[in-house]
Formats: sequence, C-alpha cells, structure tokens
Amino acid sequence: IKADKSSIIIFGASGDLTSRKLIPAIFKLFKRNLLSENFYVLGVARTQMNDQNFRDKTKNIISNLCKDEKIINRFLKIIYYQNGQYNDINLYKILNDKIKYLDDKYKTNGNNLFYFATPPDIHSIIIKKLGEVGLNDQKNNFKRVIIEKPFGSDLNSSNSLDDELHKYLEEQQIYRIDHYLGKETVQNIMMLRFANIIFEPIWNYKYIDNIQITVSESLGIGHRAGYFENAGLLRDMFQNHMLQLLTLVAMEPPASLEPVSVRNEKVKLLKSIRPFNNKNIDDNLVRGQYISSKIDDEIVPGYREEKNVAKNSCTETYVAGKFFIDNWRWSGVPFYLRSGKRLKKKLSQIAIIFKDVPHSIFSHDFINLEQNSLILNVQPDEGFSLYIQAKQPGSKLCLNTLNMDFKYKNHFDFDPPEAYERLILDALIGDQTLFVRSDAMKISWELLEPIINKWKKENTLNFYEAGTWGPKESSRLFKNGTWYPLR
Ligand code: NAP
Repeated sequence: IKADKSSIIIFGASGDLTSRKLIPAIFKLFKRNLLSENFYVLGVARTQMNDQNFRDKTKNIISNLCKDEKIINRFLKIIYYQNGQYNDINLYKILNDKIKYLDDKYKTNGNNLFYFATPPDIHSIIIKKLGEVGLNDQKNNFKRVIIEKPFGSDLNSSNSLDDELHKYLEEQQIYRIDHYLGKETVQNIMMLRFANIIFEPIWNYKYIDNIQITVSESLGIGHRAGYFENAGLLRDMFQNHMLQLLTLVAMEPPASLEPVSVRNEKVKLLKSIRPFNNKNIDDNLVRGQYISSKIDDEIVPGYREEKNVAKNSCTETYVAGKFFIDNWRWSGVPFYLRSGKRLKKKLSQIAIIFKDVPHSIFSHDFINLEQNSLILNVQPDEGFSLYIQAKQPGSKLCLNTLNMDFKYKNHFDFDPPEAYERLILDALIGDQTLFVRSDAMKISWELLEPIINKWKKENTLNFYEAGTWGPKESSRLFKNGTWYPLR
C-alpha cells in the first residue's frame, strides 16, 4: 500500500519529536518507496531557519539511517521550512500561499496532512488560525490533522480542545495519535486473538484468572520535568497507552477491520470498565514516586532531586490499578495495570494468567501446579511465550514449567517499521483504525476524572527505590496471587 499524493506540514518542526521520530519515520517511508512521488514536507516553527538550514538539520538526522547519498539528496530536495509565531495570522497567510505554490509544484491535488508536534496548549491556536485562512477546507481533496498527546489534561480541557477542533474539522479529518497503537506487537494482539481459533474460546472469565499489563521505564523523566510535574504518570500513561492496551486485549471481535467496527468495539469496552469513585479508589489504586537508589553501581537521583522538579513535589511517577470490566466475557476477572518511571527495566508486557485446573490429579504428590500463562511482549524481545506444565524427565513424577517462545526477530527476516512510520502512512492513506476517536478519548478521561480529583486533594504517595518494581504497597491490590514475575 502506497500513500496518497499529499504533503506533510509539521508544526513544531524544530522540536524533539520531529527530530527523533517524525523526520526519521517520513524518511524511512520515502526510502521504502511508500510515499507518493507527489509529496513534500513543510516544517513550521518559531525558530529562525530557512529551507537550507532545515535541510541541513534534516541531513544530520537521516544520515545515519542511509548510506546512499542519492536517496538522501532526493529527500532533502522535498523539504521546506517556514518560521513564524503560532498565534500570528500573517504566518498562516504566508503558509496558505506557500502551500498553494508547493501543492501546484508537486501536484498533490491540494491534499495536506498537518502534524501538530507542538506543546498541547498551542494545538487549539493552530487549528483556529488554519481555519481562518481556510486551510481546513476540503474540496475534492483532503485536509487532515494529526494531534499529539497529551490530548488535554483532564475531562474539561480535553472536551474544550475537542470542541475547538470540531469547529473547524469533521471527526474524519482528526487523527489523535497514540504511538503505542502503531507498534507491531500491539497490532499483533488483534491477529493473535482473531486470526486463530485456539485462543478465543478460552479468552474469558471461565478460563482466565487475571490479566496484568506492565509498561515500565528504567529511565527517569529526563528533560520532560516541566510537562511531567503537571501531568504525572496517570495522565501520561493510563489515559492513553494503558487503556488502549486494555481495550485491545479485552474487546469483542469487531465485525470487520473497518475503522468504524474496530473503534466501536473499543468504545463499547471502555464503557464497560467499572467506574472509580471516592470509595473504591484507595482499594484499587496505588500511587508512587521514586527515591534515589543505586542502579548498576551508580546512584540515581530521586524524583524530587531531578532538575526542574519541586523539592516537595507530590507528582506520581508510578501507578498500579485494579480494573474490572462489567460484561459477560470478563465478569469478575481483575485486570492489573501498572506503569512507572525508574523501574527495574524497560518493558511492555501483557500477561494472561489462566485459572488452575479444576481438579489436580497430581496434588497427592505435593506438586504445586503453576498456572498456565500467555505472555505478550510488546517490547523489548517482541513476541510471545506460552508457559505450560510438562513432565520433567526422570523416574519420579515431576512437573516443571515449559515455555514455548516466539520471537519476531527469529522468525521474520525483516526490520519492523517504527510505530510512527505505520501511523503516518495510515494517516496519508486515510485509515483511522489505529487513531483514537473522540468518544473513546472522552470516556477515558471520564474514567480517570474521579481519581485525578481525589489525588488533587489527598496526595498520598508510596515511595519506592529507583531500580525496583515499584512500591511494595502495590501487592495489596491482590486478594490472592501477586504480580506476575517479570522475566
Ligand atoms: P518540544 O520540543 O518541547 O516542542 C516542539 C516545538 O514547539 C519546539 O521546537 C518549539 O519550537 C515549539 N515550542 C516549544 N515550547 C513552546 C511554547 N511555549 N510556545 C510555543 N511554541 C513552543 O516538544 P516535543 O518533545 O517535540 O513534543 C511535541 C508534542 O509531541 C508535544 O505535544 C508532546 O507532548 C508530544 N509528544 C512528544 C514525545 C517525544 O518523545 N518528544 C512523545 C510523545 C508525545 P519553536 O520555538 O521553534 O517554535
């Protein structure tokens, strides 16, 4: 599948996301010949640069991705830049003229994909100004907008941003990006569940004991203190990635792969998550913050000692939660979700823990049967493993856990595309399946709103040493059982 003829206009083109993710992703699509010949990139930001300066910057970014000078130079030729103030209508008048000129030159049919890689409070300013000069208007062509997270900071701000967007755009023009959904292994959750007969029959409360989703970082907050201090981990990870992973694991099979079918199922699932309220928040959620400790013989600072973090900051860097889904399939099955910074290692994993056998004929031998489990590794070591019980060789009856491993890198001689590559290509094609729809966004915020409000008033924190799996209080979420041992 090749992208439609179009341009990409990146707001925030001088920033970190553009350099680290967007330019490399667009270049890789270009190199793999997945972009149309009728294509160009226009960067926009306040920083003073001309086309040549932006091309030089781009060259630095892509030169370690390709040794072929010809390809690099061909790519650099289609790169342009415009500086200006985001709230200045003159910038948009200039853009309007420049885009018309470049659209003619590259025969893009006036198709434009605008990428908002700017701080979130700038998004509504840009869309308003684009609207004022008519760059939102589709006339036998498309005008689409990709919006980066965070999409608001609570229900109110998210609704206001959504209202502002909908003043100028139809929902079909809005692509709210959650880069997690572009990862190969995340997409494979749907393939695994719905392209195989063997999993679906046992994918329910009758056979599954609990499901655990872990998304951990070994790093701290890096240079993102300014944003993270206000956001905290719940907003940063749960409102988007964690709930999206949950929907993919738990939703009903969609009628088809059409965006509307998949997104309807996701929304249906989100609506079935048992709401939190003042009474059940303390029992079902644990909030933590890391303190200084030794990692690999090196002392790392605690969160409150990080640059640009308040000495008495009560921002959480860890959240664990127990979620229930009130529908037939998942009645009574707890979903344990946890995510944090400065944990033991970087890992994204979904563990499906199956129930015990109904009756163990091995119990008289005092054999403790480990529950079967299916582990989906989103990253690193992308793939999945099935853990089952098997006889250990020997004269005595001895059982041991056997694992069947599938690793992407061992099976496919192919470097999987980066999440941003896939998602940018989808937006150019007009496929919204992997983007978050307005109603899903709203329901996610509604779900988190009582927690955000309670934590604003009672900022109880459980401290954990950097380099561990988080605060020990997180084990109180379990009546029986515990966190799946992360291997
Ligand atoms: P960034 O580097 O802080 O900002 C991007 C650009 O926006 C900057 O180069 C700057 O360009 C402009 N800018 C920064 N602060 C501004 C302000 N106060 N007013 C007006 N313009 C300002 O941000 P980023 O890390 O690239 O992230 C961009 C967006 O992607 C954000 O919404 C972020 O939440 C989201 N995101 C980023 C990452 C990531 O890995 N970086 C991951 C997920 C989501 P000029 O000064 O030249 O205008």
